Amino acid sequence: MTVVTGGSRGIGAAVALRLAAAGHAVGIGYVSARDAAREVAERVRETGAGCVAVRADTSVEAQVDRLFDTVRDTLGPITALVNNAGITGPLGRFTETSPEVMRRVVDVNVTGALLCARRAAREMATSLGGRGGAIVNVSSGAATLGSPGEYVHYAASKAAVDAMTVGLSKELAADGIRVNSVQPGLVMTDIHATMGDPDRPAKKSAVIPMGRGAEPEEIAGAIAWLLGDDASYTTGAVLRVAGGL
Ligand code: NAP
Repeated sequence: MTVVTGGSRGIGAAVALRLAAAGHAVGIGYVSARDAAREVAERVRETGAGCVAVRADTSVEAQVDRLFDTVRDTLGPITALVNNAGITGPLGRFTETSPEVMRRVVDVNVTGALLCARRAAREMATSLGGRGGAIVNVSSGAATLGSPGEYVHYAASKAAVDAMTVGLSKELAADGIRVNSVQPGLVMTDIHATMGDPDRPAKKSAVIPMGRGAEPEEIAGAIAWLLGDDASYTTGAVLRVAGGL
């Protein structure tokens, strides 16, 4: 039973479908796109996998608890988390970025990921009666590139996500929980239009060594591998999936 935050669209939706095909029941979190979340849930169920979609702002502890409670009560014990929900705020220079945008991005990308990881660890830790499991945090190539002129605050939030991966992988190893990060580069999702430039993937293709952005499914494949038995000895890894960026 795997919880995928931000499973209504983009990378998270591709992850939900990919994991369903690999035999996972999936709990999908979303914050506003109810129809999209329901559609993904329906497509997951068509594969024969169990699925429930739950509205939960991951930056709010009570809503994270409701997400995990609902998923567990509907589909059974939680064995994995994909910490995928994330936002960038509008594109722009650092000097013009408002403190409100900075705070919201840190709240969702860092606090939200921490809250979801904490709840998942409480469900899965063998010392707390769980069965062990795995967490994949969706970071970004921005964590090492820094995103100058676009969203330095977002890059900083994703570097925090990778630090969390390293620390939790060590703290939770004895509890049977593996923790890894995936760093996508540029992926064809709504996130670029939301940040203010729907043409960003096309404009950026020239700086990507492979010459193109990724399809969400190409990120989902890496996440599915990190969650699966073939990655049984992989923990604390930060896996770049960025076409050479
Ligand atoms: P997206 O298409 O914009 O989808 C974002 C998802 O996150 C949606 O499902 C959204 O829910 C959910 N979400 C946003 N804020 C939330 C909150 N406060 N609580 C719960 N859910 C929330 O984004 P994406 O491109 O698939 O990105 C997914 C992850 O990959 C993010 O962490 C992003 O930073 C990372 N990433 C993306 C790229 C890229 O180029 N696309 C590159 C590197 C890293 P609603 O549908 O309900 O709004």
